[in-house]
Amino acid sequence: MATIEHWIGGEFTAGSGNRTGPVFNPATGRQQHDVVLATSADVEAAVGAARAAFESWGQASLSRRTKVMFNFRELVNARVKELAEIISDEHGKVLSDAAGEVQRGLEVIEFACGIPQLLKGEYSDQASTGVDVFSFREPLGVCVGITPFNFPAMVPMWMYPVAIACGNTFVLKPSERDPSASNYVAGLLKEAGLPDGVFNVVHGDKSAVDALLHHPDVAAVSFVGSTPIARYIYEQGNAHGKRVQALGGAKNHAIILPDADLEFAAGHLAAAAFGSAGERCMAISAAVAVGGAGDALVDLVNRKAGEVVVGNGRDAASEMGPVVTAAAKQRIEGLIDSGEREGAKVTVDGRGLTVPGFEDGFFVGPTVIDQVEPSMEVYREEIFGPVLSVVRTDTVDAAIELINSNPYGNGTAIFTSSGEAARRFQRGVKVGMIGINVPVPVPMAYYSFGGWKDSLFGDKHVHGPEGVSFYTRAKVVTSRWPHVSHAYDASLQFPTA
Ligand code: NAD
Repeated sequence: MATIEHWIGGEFTAGSGNRTGPVFNPATGRQQHDVVLATSADVEAAVGAARAAFESWGQASLSRRTKVMFNFRELVNARVKELAEIISDEHGKVLSDAAGEVQRGLEVIEFACGIPQLLKGEYSDQASTGVDVFSFREPLGVCVGITPFNFPAMVPMWMYPVAIACGNTFVLKPSERDPSASNYVAGLLKEAGLPDGVFNVVHGDKSAVDALLHHPDVAAVSFVGSTPIARYIYEQGNAHGKRVQALGGAKNHAIILPDADLEFAAGHLAAAAFGSAGERCMAISAAVAVGGAGDALVDLVNRKAGEVVVGNGRDAASEMGPVVTAAAKQRIEGLIDSGEREGAKVTVDGRGLTVPGFEDGFFVGPTVIDQVEPSMEVYREEIFGPVLSVVRTDTVDAAIELINSNPYGNGTAIFTSSGEAARRFQRGVKVGMIGINVPVPVPMAYYSFGGWKDSLFGDKHVHGPEGVSFYTRAKVVTSRWPHVSHAYDASLQFPTA
């Protein structure tokens, strides 16, 4: 069994500790690797390498940084298949979905290739007589990314391409459940010409995270994961003087009006609920049928759920793979049980599913639960599995109210043919990312991604303009170059124009 090591200063190292964690293949249910878990000395080594590399990378020209990003873009583009296989084997998602995740990550790399344009400053000529004012942005130093299991390539790519293109150096602490994709891209970055130490990977759990949060040389922390940990990262990072953006969990609602094309809506709902086995922070987990759309919608969604081909992610025929761990399977099935106990109706049941040839895999089939009430545990909890709950309301306003009373505010969608209803929805919901007849409204790389309320702690969303702003800080220069023959008096008065 291969041991997955850290990547520090441009090379692999087993680090100084003796703790390891298991990495499973979720389709077979068998452990395939060990991953080393970092000690604080390993974190010290990674941050030290990043700090040393910042001395020169922080001064590298825009054209040099751009060139590395362009090279990296070409390498990732050429290796989508290899990366997708690595992701599928450790996460479980099907190959096409894994390739899609790499594609969305590539878009952020492409955005980062435009860094000279993105870092242009402002200039005001003759702001006062003989005085010009201009601004420019500088990198922060060592930036850290702490990422979840569900997008082992894409979520880190939301962070390090922008951070590095801005002139920072980076330490990535990926999920210990599927760590290999991060090591693979580390090799590609080196091949792209990135100097050693600019990008480092430390594997680990809470102790590695805490050592990063407490390290005085870490300037900024980007986190994506569950809400309790996001809140912890935000509070600890702030307490230790770091800039923090911490994206948390989600409970994404789609509302379906009776005027929607229900066949279209049901197809998209099923895709958004069951794609990647529901392990997407933008998955739709609650369908809110408004004003009598419910029964017809449930019939259609049941049919779509029943048609999903569940199997090994490596099998091209599979549309949905297993969930990530045995514990996740148990938790998801327990939440379906709780819905049933509390009076909801399980109309498609994915519990106890076995896939021939993969009897020990962590599979849960697509599940639809109708007649769900907001008080039920199955509604309140983020399930993070292939489970769609159907709730009913009488009006659009009641549906908006339901969404707004939820603690999360990551994504939401409306299915309707009414522009008026869509506009009322887009203005009324307290949610960061909104889809209109689009169930998974993940913004393009040149916009910024992030939710509201318990789905994001901090001010800045990731990638796009807010990502550039997060990984840099501004200087404003007020300059005067008096003519040598020009007499002027310095005055104690407050300077005014
Ligand atoms: P998680 O919170 O368990 O883990 C995320 C990261 O935090 C991992 O690197 C993990 O090692 C680390 N971590 C875990 N426990 C920790 C602790 N006690 N102290 C310090 N660090 C700790 O999340 P996960 O299960 O890997 O991912 C699923 C969650 O991520 C879901 O809640 C999902 O909604 C969320 N997510 C959110 C977004 C978003 O954009 N808002 C995107 C993807 C995933």
